[in-house]
Amino acid sequence: MATEFDYDLFVIGAGSGGVRAARMAASKGKKVAVAEDRYLGGTCVNVGCVPKKLFVYASQFSELFHASKGFGWSLTEQPSFDWPSLRDNKTREIERLNGIYNNLIENSGADLFDGRATVAGPHRVTVNGTTYSAKTILVATGGWPYIPEFPGSEHALSSNEMFSLEQLPKTAVVVGGGYIAVEFAGILNGLGVETHLVYRGPNLLKSFDREMSDKVTEGMAAKGVNIHLNTEINEIIKTDKGLSVVLQDMSLIDSGLVLYATGRQANTANLGLQNTAVVLRDNGSIVVDDNFCSAEPCIYALGDVIDRVQLTPVAIQEAMVLVDHLYGDNSATIDYSDIPTAVFCQPELGTVGLSEEQARAEFTDIAVFTSDFKPMLQTLGGGADRITMKLVVDTQTDRVVGCHMVGEHAAEIIQGLGIALKAGATKAHFDATVGIHPSAAEEFVTMRTQVR
Ligand code: NDP
Repeated sequence: MATEFDYDLFVIGAGSGGVRAARMAASKGKKVAVAEDRYLGGTCVNVGCVPKKLFVYASQFSELFHASKGFGWSLTEQPSFDWPSLRDNKTREIERLNGIYNNLIENSGADLFDGRATVAGPHRVTVNGTTYSAKTILVATGGWPYIPEFPGSEHALSSNEMFSLEQLPKTAVVVGGGYIAVEFAGILNGLGVETHLVYRGPNLLKSFDREMSDKVTEGMAAKGVNIHLNTEINEIIKTDKGLSVVLQDMSLIDSGLVLYATGRQANTANLGLQNTAVVLRDNGSIVVDDNFCSAEPCIYALGDVIDRVQLTPVAIQEAMVLVDHLYGDNSATIDYSDIPTAVFCQPELGTVGLSEEQARAEFTDIAVFTSDFKPMLQTLGGGADRITMKLVVDTQTDRVVGCHMVGEHAAEIIQGLGIALKAGATKAHFDATVGIHPSAAEEFVTMRTQVR
């Protein structure tokens, strides 16, 4: 006789991936439970993509107010910024989204547990003092900011705390050269904070196309971010006035806040996985196969906790593939190549496909097309922003293998080009496409001069 389980699927973690898997499984008639001990919607909704983007919008007004003058507007008084208003309005919006997530889970028919779940063993999950049996357990617990230990590191904040600061400081130091560091440097700078970005390497956003990441660095510096490359922080000292940050060359920066955006680690500590055969990497992430199955056959994992691609839409797609594998016809797959992505730094960076460096390594002969121009807003608005675009083409097949853009609306524009790359578009297809005039995006279909 088949064993009766309390649940077909027990999902630990109600972030983007976990909730999608739970809802899809429930919609297929499965008995599903979801446990979450922090906030519904996970990192993305609460301390990631969503509040970050709201802060990015807020930080762009300073330049827009300035640009409006050239278009005939006069501001009757000097605009001023109130941090608590932004913070609290943001929190209300997040609470609204938390409510939507709650309804999505409840309306799907899944049981929602408000508590920390641990794995008691294969097929067993304990939450709020009760142990439930489940045919399948899904670990979708995401990641958590990592801050290295060094003298004074207890004074450093992670991105989590940036969303609920009591006050905005006059000066801030941001450490790191990845997505979160450059995004927060732009936000703080735009909100009027004197911002220092400290990165240990020679190039910010080092995994992106070099020409494009250089443009971001130049653009950020032009907007007023103080960029310190090839250096690290030796120590953070608490003083009467705030914090004193000691750099490697012993120079000091007095700062009201130090944000460490030095990566994120999988949330697997104290989860009870030692009671199972699940294998973890040194960084705590869970090793899974192509079907997201761990070394323990009844335990699956997806999203940031498996440390493949730490992006919300990827976790959601992984969830769809997993549910199809478990309860569908097992035909869905995920392709990790050509994932469009954007960094909401200022200037914004959008990209899909291979960087010029990657394409050179992969193909014998490539053609590179670029365009660099002043956005139309600046003609009357008077700012110093530029837009740079780049197409990387495999000359043997004429296929466009990389599209990159730095400048306003890069994320919006690159999303569409992601479809073109997935469809295998050639440079001839780009050239045969009629532009939308006047737009920045039309440059992508009018680039005729090969620069390299
Ligand atoms: P990243 O991995 O992108 O960057 C981490 C940075 O911290 C790197 O520059 C790294 O330097 C540096 N670093 C690591 N350890 C240390 C250390 N001990 N001392 C000094 N510097 C250190 O991580 P993030 O935290 O920025 O973001 C995490 C992930 O979240 C991203 O990879 C991305 O997938 C996702 N994300 C996506 C966003 C989006 O889609 N717009 C926005 C924000 C996050 P080095 O390069 O030298 O190793």
